[in-house]
Amino acid sequence: MSKMMRAAQMLGPGKIEMGEVPMPEPKDNEVLVNIKHVGVCGADLHFFKDGAIGAWVLDFPHVLGHEPAGIVAGFGKDVKGLKEGDAVSIEPGKTCGSCQYCKSGDYNLCPDVQFMSVPGVTGAFQDYVAWPSDKVFKLPEGVSTLEGALVEPLSVGFHGVNQSEINFGESAMVLGAGCIGLCTMLALKARGITDLYISDILKLRMDKAAQLGAKQVLDASSDDVVEKVMGLTSNKGVDKVYECTGAANAVNQGIGLLANGGTLTLIGLFGEANIPTDLNGLIFKEGVFKSNFRYRHVYPIAIKALAAGIVPLKEIVSHKFKLEELGKALQFNNDHKDEVIKVVIEL
Ligand SMILES: [Zn+2]
Ligand SMILES: [Zn+2]
Repeated sequence: MSKMMRAAQMLGPGKIEMGEVPMPEPKDNEVLVNIKHVGVCGADLHFFKDGAIGAWVLDFPHVLGHEPAGIVAGFGKDVKGLKEGDAVSIEPGKTCGSCQYCKSGDYNLCPDVQFMSVPGVTGAFQDYVAWPSDKVFKLPEGVSTLEGALVEPLSVGFHGVNQSEINFGESAMVLGAGCIGLCTMLALKARGITDLYISDILKLRMDKAAQLGAKQVLDASSDDVVEKVMGLTSNKGVDKVYECTGAANAVNQGIGLLANGGTLTLIGLFGEANIPTDLNGLIFKEGVFKSNFRYRHVYPIAIKALAAGIVPLKEIVSHKFKLEELGKALQFNNDHKDEVIKVVIEL
């Protein structure tokens, strides 16, 4: 009989209880990871509240969580380069490896991806996860599993910055200073971008952005952000804009902020599909739209940046809860969005 472990199981909308489930057995190419930290993401909050995100409908019981890091506790016979006790971060998308996108390297676009915590795929709010070794990354000395759990959102930021093709010396504006906005800002800083503007409507987030080194933080609740940034840039606008709010009015704001020939990269997911868009505004500037779906090939880079001390990622964690408190943690996060930047679950 297989050994048992703890799992924080979602039993229905708003309902999570601790359960006992069989421990996973690593396949030949898999690593067994004893999970230590898991970040809470907006997707977890939506699933917890509604049991679904659009067409993604959960069956219960279900385990959420897709931002895990932990300690290697075993592995299959084909795994190389890891040993028991190594601290690791897990990239949560298992890809097929044989489709056109996987073969060309754009594996985040694999139609058969099994992404942790979406319907039908067990997530990481449990003691152990077995996962393919090519998506398990060793954390170097000095990088904690707390930081390892934050590599997932940091990777979204790094991929967004890659998508935008920003060059050294260009200016950037990040819309939204939540977890993803701040991670995008840190990724831009790691790229050496100094003309770095960011906006939000919540004081806690604006203060954090200032603390983490934004050149100028704008208060979108009281300022006309476009007018202000035009003033700060001698009416040129910014070369690259990163949309990290998912708010409907942010797209036209982003277009308004662009310098001629600039690029607007859409990182945040929108609550609705049909967003009013000033396409003529984009055309007159010969602006470029880019978008960003998760990430590819950036875990090693994000981890390297962490190890080098150039992304103070720990600073974005505002709350920690134990695994047993997961239901409480998600409820708290949903009820107090203005007090939370990032919640991390500790096991
Ligand atoms: Zn996430
Ligand atoms: Zn594939």
